[in-house]
Amino acid sequence: MGGKVTVIGSYNTGFVIYIERVPALGETVRGWGFRMEHGGKGSNQAVQASRLDAETAMVARIGNDIFGERALKLWRSESISTDHVRIDPHAPTGAGLVIVGPEGKNLIAVDLGANMRLSEDDVDSAEPLLRNSDVVLAQLEIPERVALYALRLSDGIKVLNPAPAVRMDPERLSGIDVITPNEVEVRLMSGEGHGSDVVAIAERYAKHTNVVVTLGERGALVVEKGGRSYTVPAPKVRAVDTTGAGDAFNGALASALAKGYSLREAVELACKAGAFLVTRRKGPSLIDSLPDWKDLESLEVP
Ligand code: ADP
Repeated sequence: MGGKVTVIGSYNTGFVIYIERVPALGETVRGWGFRMEHGGKGSNQAVQASRLDAETAMVARIGNDIFGERALKLWRSESISTDHVRIDPHAPTGAGLVIVGPEGKNLIAVDLGANMRLSEDDVDSAEPLLRNSDVVLAQLEIPERVALYALRLSDGIKVLNPAPAVRMDPERLSGIDVITPNEVEVRLMSGEGHGSDVVAIAERYAKHTNVVVTLGERGALVVEKGGRSYTVPAPKVRAVDTTGAGDAFNGALASALAKGYSLREAVELACKAGAFLVTRRKGPSLIDSLPDWKDLESLEVP
């Protein structure tokens, strides 16, 4: 059995349709392959942590609707505690409309709904849980101020996946143990443009926190607080769909840190989880393909 992971974050239902041609404004085109799927960075990462044996709890807000009911059902079936999930009477469960266009290019609209009403009061109610967790993991599909407040309340390892990214000065991250942006996010956080030097940016943030920048098929760059840096390669796989790789990565990282792995060992495991996910070996939905231990053992490392 693993350690305790608490995820403070989002749940969104994804509504997916495939189309051949992007419609003009006001036009309707026929699509195919409709599916409804579980999503939200927080929920995905919690499912991943739990599948890798962390004792996992969710701190979240959902709407008083059938989508919120589906979220609760999912978490219960994945052995995730829902004691600190609030049902908001005034906002819908988060939802994302995903239209998959030609060449896999997506059009996406998201209404984060109840997720954005998660409050300091919700966090205060979960204080004993946060204090007792080995790892607390947050993302930014909830108010940024609430995410940081929850992390600071914890006595465990505090991990922030700054996604979607917002401008954030390095000083704001003091007291946070690990941040896990991807390459695009780390640039957005720093306010620097496309093509700027990711290593130099990571080094600036590493004055205040450990920085893990995920690099897609190239694995992850780690710059530890205090300066030591190294790259962890990702296993070579045939990628089918890279959506959600970051969620597999973060859930696995949290689970490993909660078990007492070193940061390097945790990043190695997280890279494996991300690589497994992109193969979509267990089904088209992201959630189907989040790996368990057996899946990771089946993945050959080069
Ligand atoms: P995000 O999904 O947030 O954009 P990345 O694309 O950087 O994040 O992916 C997260 C992690 O998943 C990477 O660090 C890597 O370990 C793994 N990963 C992603 N894409 C691939 C790939 N094509 N092959 C192998 N591993 C991958």
